[in-house]
Amino acid sequence: MEIVTSVRDMKARSRAWRKQGLSVGLVPTMGFLHPGHGSLVERSVLENSRTVVSIFVNPTQFGPGEDLESYPRDRDRDAAYMKSLCANVLFMPEPGEMYPPGFATYVEAPELGLRLCGASRPGHFRGVCTVVLKLLNAASPDRAYFGLKDAQQFFILRRMARDLDLDTSMVPCETVREEDGLAMSSRNSYLTPEERAVAPLLRKGLLAAEAYFRDGGREALKACAVVSETLAAEPRFSLDYAEAVAACDLRPVSRVSSETLLACAARLGRARLIDNIIFDPSGPSRKGRGGRPCW
Ligand code: AMP
Repeated sequence: MEIVTSVRDMKARSRAWRKQGLSVGLVPTMGFLHPGHGSLVERSVLENSRTVVSIFVNPTQFGPGEDLESYPRDRDRDAAYMKSLCANVLFMPEPGEMYPPGFATYVEAPELGLRLCGASRPGHFRGVCTVVLKLLNAASPDRAYFGLKDAQQFFILRRMARDLDLDTSMVPCETVREEDGLAMSSRNSYLTPEERAVAPLLRKGLLAAEAYFRDGGREALKACAVVSETLAAEPRFSLDYAEAVAACDLRPVSRVSSETLLACAARLGRARLIDNIIFDPSGPSRKGRGGRPCW
């Protein structure tokens, strides 16, 4: 596995691979890698001849007062982990490489980027879209892999790829969880042992909302209330939002269906945890033309 730090070198590697007719997969990350990231890399290694993993803690997606400085980092451990999964290149540019002096162009996501997490993190998805477009340009992948833990991020990036006519296929991957249901996240390292013990309540709330749906409940407000009521049992949790939206366009819905994404974010100590559920992912009404999911 090679470590590449400049956009120029990354482009040269990718160009050479293309000349040889090799397919390329990209897994963009912010590092402090865990098996959730690992699952994306494994899939890319299976589906492509070459896999690039990028590690870049992107300053433009952090707002003032957020955790840019304290975001966990462990480059040596990350490199050993990615080598063990047979990634070919670890692309680790410095901030000055991605945003040189005079940098002045951004990708906006005005519709989808203002909802859910975008409401409490202004500018976040502008930063995400901008950096992912730059990473896609650097690596020129056939496929790029994203986790559905960050469902809003995936749907926004897929929209960007469609709107800007990108050649890369954006691939959604299932959320990988700890045994007690907590979605794996680099930010889980912020939790104290006491907070970690109660953290799975977020997932429990979502599963309770799913049970409400399975039992025939269809009111979106009620489904969201199930999540907030579950979290209310633990005073250390402070709910940011629980919202039911259409998975295809993230518009709020009043009635839930098999295509509803119930997304939530909550603060627990220093951590802001996010999680979501798409009701009944195997349900027949989610099949569009050709048997593919509508979203
Ligand atoms: P991050 O390093 O947190 O920016 O995440 C990089 C990529 O890994 C994003 O596409 C995330 O959605 C994905 N990811 C993070 N955690 C998980 C997880 N628990 N399961 C699956 N994918 C994940």
